[in-house]
Amino acid sequence: MDIATIIPKKNVFYNEPMSKHTTFRIGGPAECFVKVETKDQLKGILRYASENKVPATVIGNGSNLLVLDGGIPGITVKVAIDGYEVRPDDTVVVGSGCKLGHLAKVFAENSLSGFEELSGIPGTIGGAIVMNAGAYQKEIKDVLKCVEVMDCQGNVRVLQNDELKLGYRSSIFKENQGAHRVQGVITEAVLVLTKGNEAEIRGRMQELLQSRKDKQPLEYPSAGSTFKRGQDFITAKLIDEAGLKGYHVGDAYISEKHSGFIVNKGNATAKDVLQLVEYAKEEVYKKFNKKIDLEIEIVGEKE
Ligand SMILES: Cc1cc2nc3c(=O)[nH]c(=O)nc-3n(C[C@H](O)[C@H](O)[C@H](O)COP(=O)(O)OP(=O)(O)OC[C@H]3O[C@@H](n4cnc5c(N)ncnc54)[C@H](O)[C@@H]3O)c2cc1C
Repeated sequence: MDIATIIPKKNVFYNEPMSKHTTFRIGGPAECFVKVETKDQLKGILRYASENKVPATVIGNGSNLLVLDGGIPGITVKVAIDGYEVRPDDTVVVGSGCKLGHLAKVFAENSLSGFEELSGIPGTIGGAIVMNAGAYQKEIKDVLKCVEVMDCQGNVRVLQNDELKLGYRSSIFKENQGAHRVQGVITEAVLVLTKGNEAEIRGRMQELLQSRKDKQPLEYPSAGSTFKRGQDFITAKLIDEAGLKGYHVGDAYISEKHSGFIVNKGNATAKDVLQLVEYAKEEVYKKFNKKIDLEIEIVGEKE
């Protein structure tokens, strides 16, 4: 079967540079890159991959990913299933490819509160649930009722919030990553919001977006915080105190503005980023005897 019978030709790309699909603007080519806009297309491509034993890698907005320079073998599936339905009981059904920033505006228009803190996270609902993304003491977990997931045969089932093991940047989806996701691909989610005041919601969103602009190096491509917070320490602070601000390998820099971010100041490669990550880990360990873990996910193959 030809992939073009499953996905419209305009959404199928061969040898597609992943630097075009990640906020880091880094990454070698995807052997085959498809953008799926409907559940039927997703079902078709997952079945195709499974029947032909081709590895399938799922991405959302690519805002938490470091794709290696050798690229991604098999099929890379960008989930772009969007659409939403605001229900009278203040729950909202959203496609997993909806972007958080766009949804936040929709919720504000509908005077629905509870999502303001998440509005500046540049990902999709699917990616946010997998990561249990969060900011300003709010996590997606706090507003999530349930998700619909599709397995590699195209069968769907609904999982409730408490079945997803949502913790600090973790979920059941992260337990089985890679080509053969046991927990499946998120297609849809139901969020629970509360009635609020539109002007107040917009005001809070503005305030938090400004705080991001002030503190984060949004002028450069990145994948957000490179490392997770430690249990008893703030990783960015240790990196800073280790004197690593502005340290770089090639065009990959530890941001001067926020040492928790590695930024791409031009043509950084994944190899540069990985070297910088290793250096930061070693220095922090040497100086503070603390191990730091990556928040960003590494995908693909080395060159
Ligand atoms: C400037 C900047 C600021 C950021 N600020 C924050 C922040 O404040 N808080 C925070 O938590 N994160 C932050 N991030 C990181 C990132 O935006 C989040 O992790 C986000 O939730 C990732 O969503 P995504 O759609 O881009 O997912 P991707 O990066 O594309 O993928 C992330 C993971 O989710 C999986 N995935 C994606 N979609 C699906 C799906 N439909 N079904 C199953 N699996 C799927 C992927 O396989 C991968 O494992 C920031 C990033 C940047 C660049």
